[in-house]
Amino acid sequence: MSRIEEVLRQDVFSRDDIIRLLSAVEAEELEMISQAAGRTLMERCSDKVYLRGLIEFSNICTMDCLYCGLRKSNQKVNRYCLTKKEIVAAAYECAANGLGSIVLQSGERRDASFIDFVTDVVREIKRQTVSEKLSDGLGITLCVGEQSPENYRRFFNAGAHRYLLRIETSHPGLFKKIHPPRQRLESRLRCLEVLKEIGYQVGTGVMIGLPGQTISMLADDILFFRDIDIDMIGMGPYICHPDTPMYKHHQSVDRRRNEIFRRSLLMIAAARLVLKDVNIASTTALQAMDPLGREKGIRFGANVVMPQLTPAGYRGDYLIYPGKPCLNEGNNECRIRFENEMRSLGRAVAIDQWGDPKHFITRTKKTRGNGPASYESLAEQRLNR
Ligand code: SAM
Ligand code: SF4
Repeated sequence: MSRIEEVLRQDVFSRDDIIRLLSAVEAEELEMISQAAGRTLMERCSDKVYLRGLIEFSNICTMDCLYCGLRKSNQKVNRYCLTKKEIVAAAYECAANGLGSIVLQSGERRDASFIDFVTDVVREIKRQTVSEKLSDGLGITLCVGEQSPENYRRFFNAGAHRYLLRIETSHPGLFKKIHPPRQRLESRLRCLEVLKEIGYQVGTGVMIGLPGQTISMLADDILFFRDIDIDMIGMGPYICHPDTPMYKHHQSVDRRRNEIFRRSLLMIAAARLVLKDVNIASTTALQAMDPLGREKGIRFGANVVMPQLTPAGYRGDYLIYPGKPCLNEGNNECRIRFENEMRSLGRAVAIDQWGDPKHFITRTKKTRGNGPASYESLAEQRLNR
């Protein structure tokens, strides 16, 4: 029996097992891992693929992440913010086409007018999308960065029930290298903790292929997701943007392109095998690297896709990385094509459903005493490494 077969016979995976999974290269090994991830998904979740219409409503950002094309120091970006009417119209289209949930994503702003705007938009989307099929309106996920506990609560009370905040890497040294000094890992960890306390379904994730990132760091990322008892995961390959400080690494990143893509799929599979009942997105960045990237992500254990619903005229200005596919895929025709593709993989697309992660339901049933270690103690452990 091969070493990978041995690893895959288990139900609980050690750090070494995860490193072994992430190191797989041979086609046969990759097939075994993808099959095992698929089995776990069927046993612990279902055959359903959930849809979230993605609305990138603003590219204005006050942060300066060294990898992202939207960073505030990038003067070449044509900045925009959709109007409330435009966002609500996109959300309405999403509901009308059977996508039960949306993700509202933007650059990070913390000023009062932005917070009021987001709160108002969430409330209005909820009001306008209640229907016979969606008795509580669209499910709303927010992805608008680090905010104060009070503002997270305002968004929640307005009707947002999921929040995505990627940790980018759980390794303190690497985090420091890819962010300016004022952006801190501890602060992100605290945000995740607050989001969970408020009652959100909480998602996080990392970029794969960052310069200086090792397989053990990625294995630690998976263990980090497990230890903080996360509900949802969104991970994807790091793609170099020419107008960012990290572009200086582009030659080595380009050389490792195939490895980065493969490892991104393996991270999805490893997350599925270790965390089992969480929702995992097959992200746009996978599709940017390979036209079939999204389907491959599904094969490796993902169960969420985020069709692009940003109005077409703005998509070219939301370039976090180059080569982002700008497909118009929220409409009925695209949905039917996607449903057929999924059916050929033995999967069914869930229509008019929120598609909440099973993990959220399980963890909220747990008594307090059995809950995860606090995020702050985890942060401390990581900082002391
Ligand atoms: N501003 C919010 C935030 O940072 O949480 C939400 C929007 S931000 C564009 C969403 C995600 O894009 C980030 O969490 C990061 O992982 C990803 N991202 C940014 N630049 C990227 C790049 N060059 N390659 C791949 N992913 C990137
Ligand atoms: Fe802004 Fe998010 Fe990009 Fe960082 S990753 S620069 S916070 S949009």
